[in-house]
Amino acid sequence: MPELPEVEGVVRALVPAVEGKTFAKVELSETIYTSWGLGKQCIVKNIEPNLFEEVMQGMHIRKIVRRSKYIYFHLEKNQESFLFVNHLGMSGAWFVVQALSEITEEKFRKHVHAIFTLESGELLVYSDIRRFGELRFLKKLEEHPPLLLMAPEPFEESACEYFLDKCQLPKYQNKPIKEVIMDGQVISGCGNIYATEALFKMGIHPARKTNRISKTRKIELFEAVRTILRESIEMGGSTISDYRNINGEAGGMQNRLKMYGKKVCPHCNTATKSLIIGGRTSVYCPKCQR
Ligand SMILES: [Zn+2]
Repeated sequence: MPELPEVEGVVRALVPAVEGKTFAKVELSETIYTSWGLGKQCIVKNIEPNLFEEVMQGMHIRKIVRRSKYIYFHLEKNQESFLFVNHLGMSGAWFVVQALSEITEEKFRKHVHAIFTLESGELLVYSDIRRFGELRFLKKLEEHPPLLLMAPEPFEESACEYFLDKCQLPKYQNKPIKEVIMDGQVISGCGNIYATEALFKMGIHPARKTNRISKTRKIELFEAVRTILRESIEMGGSTISDYRNINGEAGGMQNRLKMYGKKVCPHCNTATKSLIIGGRTSVYCPKCQR
């Protein structure tokens, strides 16, 4: 699942390719239409697919930014502002191409769900193999309240203080630390990969109760999360299973991961163990992490 660095990589590639351009036409897949009608998991969230296509037509892309693991397209039409929010889910990917045949990997080409034709002639294409992604059209952020509850960006000054305050709340105090740092209302954008890495770096067992970690150690842990996220952004993110930067580019961070997906601890050669915490597999070293 793409985490903050991967989403940042997508945004950095999208900005020069499509910012300032206008949607001439939008076409959604048959699957979106049928899944909407059946009330099944549908990528388009809060607006009927035909209305989505209609409203997007003529929208000017003013700005594209990342917020936590979301991509915000700030749009404008007839002097009115709108927001188009995308979450990549497990396997969402964007492409900017002249024709669909330029999407080289067949699995992405076969699962195209939205084609935004730009007035300049290129196609901005959203592909999603597993269909856990989200395309949401909003007039303002308040229309989707979960977006208002997200923790500050981890690189913001206030983010560490925010994390420490949240840890004091009864609902988090007794929870495993890994579950807490992966909660987007506590730290923005830290998913399984980077939570696993930060806890290994700190020698903290993923199941350790949050209130059993001192404030100093918590501050250090937050710093470890921030450092690993920054390093991964520089490396272009981790390419694990179906994550791609736009146009199918892969990142390089997966080669630097020390604990995520490892069978043996790189420090002490002990076999790693795994636990399910907060519904996610958590790999750790039973000797180095306490
Ligand atoms: Zn170890």
